[in-house]
Amino acid sequence: MSSTSTKKSPLQYIGLALFAVAMLIFTAMLGLDDYTFTQDAITAPFETSDESKQGIAAMHQGALIVAGEQTGLFENTYSTTFAAEKALKQTFYTAKSLVDQQIKADGLPEGKQQWEVELPEWQFKNQRMGWIQGGAGGPVRNNPWLFFWLTFGLGALGGLLYIIPKFRAKPGIKNDHIFHSPLTKGLDLGWRSLFLTMAILGILGYGFYYMDDKFFWPAVTALIAIVIIALVMFAQNSWGRDARDASPEGLSGYLGIFAGVYFIGFYLLLYWASHHIVAWVAMVSPISEGIYQFFSGKEEGGQASQWFLYGFMYCTIMVVMGVRMISKYRHNKYQIFRTISVLFFQLAFAFMIPEILVALNKPWYDFKNIWPLDYDFFFSWSIDGFLNTPGSLGLFMLGWGIMLIIIGVPLMVHFLGKRWYCSWVCGCGGLAETMGDPWRQLSDKSLRAWKFERWIIHGVLAAAIIMTGMTLYSYSTGTQELFGIQTSGIQKWYGFLIGAGFAGVVGTGFYPLMGNRVWCRFGCPLAAYLGLVQRFQSRFRITVNGGQCISCGNCSTYCEMGIDVRSYAQKGQDVVRASCVGCGVCAAVCPRGVLRLENGAEDISQRTVSERVIHISEENGIQLME
Ligand code: SF4
Ligand code: SF4
Repeated sequence: MSSTSTKKSPLQYIGLALFAVAMLIFTAMLGLDDYTFTQDAITAPFETSDESKQGIAAMHQGALIVAGEQTGLFENTYSTTFAAEKALKQTFYTAKSLVDQQIKADGLPEGKQQWEVELPEWQFKNQRMGWIQGGAGGPVRNNPWLFFWLTFGLGALGGLLYIIPKFRAKPGIKNDHIFHSPLTKGLDLGWRSLFLTMAILGILGYGFYYMDDKFFWPAVTALIAIVIIALVMFAQNSWGRDARDASPEGLSGYLGIFAGVYFIGFYLLLYWASHHIVAWVAMVSPISEGIYQFFSGKEEGGQASQWFLYGFMYCTIMVVMGVRMISKYRHNKYQIFRTISVLFFQLAFAFMIPEILVALNKPWYDFKNIWPLDYDFFFSWSIDGFLNTPGSLGLFMLGWGIMLIIIGVPLMVHFLGKRWYCSWVCGCGGLAETMGDPWRQLSDKSLRAWKFERWIIHGVLAAAIIMTGMTLYSYSTGTQELFGIQTSGIQKWYGFLIGAGFAGVVGTGFYPLMGNRVWCRFGCPLAAYLGLVQRFQSRFRITVNGGQCISCGNCSTYCEMGIDVRSYAQKGQDVVRASCVGCGVCAAVCPRGVLRLENGAEDISQRTVSERVIHISEENGIQLME
């Protein structure tokens, strides 16, 4: 392993500058458009072809028009999404009270109940994004392609200009000081805890609002989280003891903090305030429309949603950072293979095939997403969707999903380890390995982190099983409650806290603060399931040739799952860990060829516990002792 200069070429500086400009435009463009609203646009979502509902729809539309005139909605131009949302909200709630007054004055129409006639509050949350999207006008709306090239185009070009010169350097891992630079080294435990606490409290706080002021589930969750943390702390007896930190004291990792805050902000907007990112959505809409119209043969339709934007960004980032991944680890064939593999599965199975299915009027479905990662697979609307899809595709999807859970996962993990999914197929793993690679060294290697990891990830798996059990119970019996707990409440709670809060905001937003596999290591219930099979029933392990180890620690530093690989190498003990995703980077960065990823058939139980020691003596030379 040789030391190398971190000096950058002029091309790389140009790349960095282009990327910075693209990011600035990407951020600033959210404030460039104006928003105006017409009566037709505001009332259109309430039109219905159901004759029995047309009277009520007309009442709602009339109330919205009167309210809009009172609030000045149809005359004003709003320069930000915040101002537009405020005006829409005021109009909606004015209309709601007009409807309430009318119900009071005239009584309910015959045969109708209160909830069928009033303007429900969820309508506002549902319509808000569509209204703001429809009302947008200005530079982004009028020139989406220009902004697409100025952001996606320039950003990707800048990234590639920065990455491609790396192919000229000698292959292999070098000491580039990433672990010691104040820009890129990790945060110490105190700062990490502060960021994590702020994020969790923020998500729980938002949960109060999101759950329509029903505090029960967020409060229960907070309580469970506190109990888990207290238990782990107690078991570890670690109050007042510092963990073995990955970095020296003090606030450091400035780039990480900046990137982390940006990512967290992005996820918050994406999940819960997508009406503020309509300019980003408008920019990629021509691509979404192009795909839709090409495959459906229609001449219009296919407007992008925030999820299309997310999928498209996800793929673009993975491709650019995948090139970086290949340049960095090109001395190792396994790294090239698995990078191409995750890119293929993401681009084809998670992005293009679902988009084509939608264009062909079939349901959106990601064939490689497996329960419990795909936590709503057994929700009643999902099962009904499978059963009611015309043709055999729906039934196939249902059977395929169940087959993967029961047979596919255990068999594949038995023969190949969990790497077949976590490192070759999964989109979350793919993003972690490409975009997240610059932060892989930040994973906490302490024993305390290992304890937290086991409690939390198996806790999430248990929550997913309980939630799904209740869902299936409700589906088969038609009862919406079990032991006084509403099935829909627990589903909503799980989707909010785990599906969005943990997997998105914390899972990806914390890459630059806690390493690139925060979700896979601490939160993914599928990883927990795969890990249990890997730990007890798999042929996969990392074998070590301990006598060659020089204790440099490269393997532990680069292990994204926080496994202290060096300690295994020093003892001559094979690595068989539930959390190991088989990324193989420990082996790729080992200067002595100590580590090998293997799927051996024999003596697995012995090898996990036995310690093979090298014994050197004058009489016998070098011997391997059991
Ligand atoms: S032990 Fe090696 S293969 Fe397993 S997750 Fe860590 S770096 Fe990857
Ligand atoms: S196994 Fe390899 S990378 Fe790990 S400490 Fe030993 S020599 Fe270094």
